[in-house]
Amino acid sequence: MSETPKIWNPKAETMSRDELKSLQSERLREQVAYVYEKSPLYRRKYDEVGLEPGDIKGVEDISKLPFIAKDELRQSQEENKPFGDHVCVPQEEVTWLPSTSGTTGTPLLLPRTAEDIEIWTELNARAYTAVGIDRTDIYQNILTYNWIYGGLALHAGAQRVGATVVNAGMGNTEKQMWAIEYMGTTSFHATPSYLAHLGNLFAQKGGSEHLKLRSIIAGGEVGMAGEEAKARLRELFPTVKTFADVGGVTDVGTMIWAECTHMNGGHLAEDAVICEVLDTETGEPVAPGEVGELVFTDVVSKGAPMLRYKVNDLTRIDDAPCACGRTLARLPEGILGRADDMLTIRAANVYPSAVDEIVKSFEELNGQYQLVIDRPQDLDVMTLRMESVDRLDEAGERDLISRIDNKVKLVFGSRADIEILETGDLPNFVYKAKRIIDKRKGETEQDAIDKALEQQRG
Ligand SMILES: [Zn+2]
Repeated sequence: MSETPKIWNPKAETMSRDELKSLQSERLREQVAYVYEKSPLYRRKYDEVGLEPGDIKGVEDISKLPFIAKDELRQSQEENKPFGDHVCVPQEEVTWLPSTSGTTGTPLLLPRTAEDIEIWTELNARAYTAVGIDRTDIYQNILTYNWIYGGLALHAGAQRVGATVVNAGMGNTEKQMWAIEYMGTTSFHATPSYLAHLGNLFAQKGGSEHLKLRSIIAGGEVGMAGEEAKARLRELFPTVKTFADVGGVTDVGTMIWAECTHMNGGHLAEDAVICEVLDTETGEPVAPGEVGELVFTDVVSKGAPMLRYKVNDLTRIDDAPCACGRTLARLPEGILGRADDMLTIRAANVYPSAVDEIVKSFEELNGQYQLVIDRPQDLDVMTLRMESVDRLDEAGERDLISRIDNKVKLVFGSRADIEILETGDLPNFVYKAKRIIDKRKGETEQDAIDKALEQQRG
């Protein structure tokens, strides 16, 4: 029995940056010509700006393409039920029809052809191999399987690398814990808030040192990339060597990036999805390595490919070589927050991930928190509620609050009202944590929950 390779597709994952650019150019030319021929929406958009497919000679011309936004897709679907006229294939060629969760509106359908499924299974296999999963793994897939895209697509990717896949799905935490223990699960995939929840429960039961876990994969939320985010998890899961940040956006694909075992940022599948980082104000590319808004152009999918799709995520890209040998660029800090969630507190800009980092840097806290921002009398007021691992005495709590207070002042330039709660006191959003409630924008707790469900990824 041959071993699973350390790099699933060496040709695609280790080519020189020049070779990559020429492959992207070739695929972009073909994809633009394809959508212009097959999709009435793309043809209309390109005609409107006087663009012909021949105008796109290579990846350097990508900015000539107009952006496509989620609202346009929704409108396209409403006006051309059920699929929408952004879709490039007839129903007969669609072999899988997942959709977005659509908690606050009609779900967006995501028609996939047989070829799309094969392409993304290979891309997911690449991602799992990067994370270090192979045929020696028992892999528990703690993701939703019904309706949405993620669970089933990732299940197929893990099977492709030869892992023993457990179709756990979401929920039933007691059974998840039983399976991890009884089946000798070596790796699982879950949302970061859920895996912290699991870790805290194992800690309450006496720890997880006896488990066989060696890799944990999490995606779909801000906060898994970077060493600070991983520090607390390392304590909760001491046997685990790899905590991999992965991610994507359902409308485009599943794992568009995945961290390798060196854990210095998720490698982007750039040969399949061209990734731009643009200034949120001007729409122009930011300087290399600077923070901006992520824009994806899928140059491989055939059913409903997204070209210049604005993801609304803030990040920065690093294309420096990685010790693993992959030449694909990385997202060293993962996602820093949503472009429209950038917090402005008393005129200072703060990324939502900064709050995550503060909370995760205190070992007395379990990582769950809620930040409420309000402006009762023309002045921004923040309330930061966090859960402690153990019940603290009065002196311990005072000391912790004062240390958190110092850190908050350092990061935000202003202070917050700090409340320490006990484990389990905050609502635990198993799906995707939406931890910041901005009452200045009229957000309520229920809005935040709805929005969190609507935006769930993967
Ligand atoms: Zn690497």
